[in-house]
Amino acid sequence: MSKPSRPSAFETVNRLFDKAADLLELSEEKRVELTTPYRELMVRLPLLSEDGKLHVFRGYRVQHDNSRGPMKGGIRYHPDADLDEVRALAALMTWKTAVVGLPYGGAKGGIQCDPRQLSTLDLERLTRRFAQRMEGFIGPREDIPGPDMGTNARIMAWMMDEYSKFHGYSPGVVTGKPLELGGSQGRESATGRGLFFAVERIAPELGLALDGARVAVQGFGNVGYWAARFLADAGCRIVAVSDIDGTIRCPDGLDIGALREAAQRAGSVTAYEGPGCERLDREELISSDCDILVPAALGGAIHAGNAADIKAKLIAEGANHPTTPEADEILLEREVTVLPDIYANAGGVTVSYFEWVQNLQQMRWSAERVDDELHQVMQTAFDAIKKARGEFDTDWRAAAFVVAVRRVAEAARLRGLH
Ligand code: NAD
Repeated sequence: MSKPSRPSAFETVNRLFDKAADLLELSEEKRVELTTPYRELMVRLPLLSEDGKLHVFRGYRVQHDNSRGPMKGGIRYHPDADLDEVRALAALMTWKTAVVGLPYGGAKGGIQCDPRQLSTLDLERLTRRFAQRMEGFIGPREDIPGPDMGTNARIMAWMMDEYSKFHGYSPGVVTGKPLELGGSQGRESATGRGLFFAVERIAPELGLALDGARVAVQGFGNVGYWAARFLADAGCRIVAVSDIDGTIRCPDGLDIGALREAAQRAGSVTAYEGPGCERLDREELISSDCDILVPAALGGAIHAGNAADIKAKLIAEGANHPTTPEADEILLEREVTVLPDIYANAGGVTVSYFEWVQNLQQMRWSAERVDDELHQVMQTAFDAIKKARGEFDTDWRAAAFVVAVRRVAEAARLRGLH
C-alpha cells in the first residue's frame, strides 16, 4: 500500500478560506481569483561553502495577493521550507494583513536549509545571493520581506544592503532590521505583546480573569517568551512551557525571568529548576492542566490525535496554523475558544508595518507610540471580528476569515482585474 501523502498546507489554509467564502456566498470564479497566488518564484542558490563543498539550495518567494497594497511576509530558513508550506504561509499573510487592516497584501519566502549548519560567512553569502535573485520582484512598494523562523535582524540587514546595491539606499525593502539601520522600537516583543492584547480583550467575554489564570506555552522562542512574559506581568500563572527538547511543568507557576536565563544558559527550558517542577516529554505540553494554551512553535501542533486532551478554555494561536481543521472541529464541539493565528499573532506584522512607515517617512517613533498604535490596531480588529461573529453566528476563526476575505474581495473588485 502506498504511504498516505501529507495533507497540503496550502489546501488546509484554503479550507479555512472556503468556510468564509461560503458564509459570504462568493462565486466560484471569485474564489479562484482570491486563492490563486499572484506570482511564485523558485530559485537555485549554489553556495561554495567555506569547507570547499558545493551546496545547491532552493529559495522561494510566493506573492499571494496585492489587492490591498504591497505584499508583506517573512523569509524562513528551515529544512521544511518547501513551496507548499511557503504558499500556505503567503496566503495566511493576505488574510492576516487584511483582518488587522494593514494596507498590505500577503507573501512569504524561504530557503530550504538548516541555518545552524552554516557558518556566518556562508549564511551571509547565501542571503546575498537570494536577495540578488529576488531584487527584481521585491521592493518597498512591491513586496517587503521580513524575518521568520531561522532568520533575524542581521540577515535582514544583509538583504537590505544587497537590494540597495541595485536600487539605491532602500531601508523600506525589508523590515525587522537592526535599530541602527532603520528597525523599529518594539519589533522584537511585538508578536507576544499583540497576542497579550488579544487575550486581554477576549478574556472578559469568556468570564476568564487573567489574574491567577493558568497558562501553558508551547515553544519558548521570540513569540513564546514575550507572550509568557506579558501574561505573567498581568498576573497569569505560567504552569508549563516547552521547547524542542521537552516540557517543564510547574503547577505553582514558574518565574519567566529565571526560565529565560536557564534556557539561554543551558539551551533548553528543561534546565529550569523550581519547587514542584517536573520534566516531561515535549508532546505533554498540550494536555497541561491550564486555562489558556499558547501554541508558539510549529504548524499542526494541535491535531486530531491530541485535541480531545486539551484542558484549556482558551487557545491563543501564537504560531501560524498550529491547529489542523480536524482539531478545530473537535475543539468547537468541546466549546474550547480558539483565538485564530491571523489575528492573535498579527502584532509582529503590525509593528513591521510601523517600521516600513517610519522608513518611508525617514522618521523614528518612540517605544510608547509603537505600543499605543499596536494596542489600537488589535482593539479595532477585535471589534470587527466580534461583529462578524455575531452577524454570521460563527466561531472566532471563521469570523476573522470573513472580515479578511470580505476586505480583500472588495479591494479586488474596486481595482478591477489587475
Ligand atoms: P523561534 O525560532 O524564536 O522559537 C521557536 C520555539 O519553538 C523554540 O523554543 C523551539 O525550541 C520551539 N520548538 C520547535 N519545535 C518544537 C516542538 N516540536 N515542540 C515544542 N517546541 C518546539 O520562533 P518564533 O519567532 O517564536 O516563531 C514561533 C511561531 O510563531 C512560528 O510558527 C512562526 O511562524 C510564528 N510567528 C512568529 C512571529 C514573530 O514575530 N516571530 C510572528 C507571527 C507568527
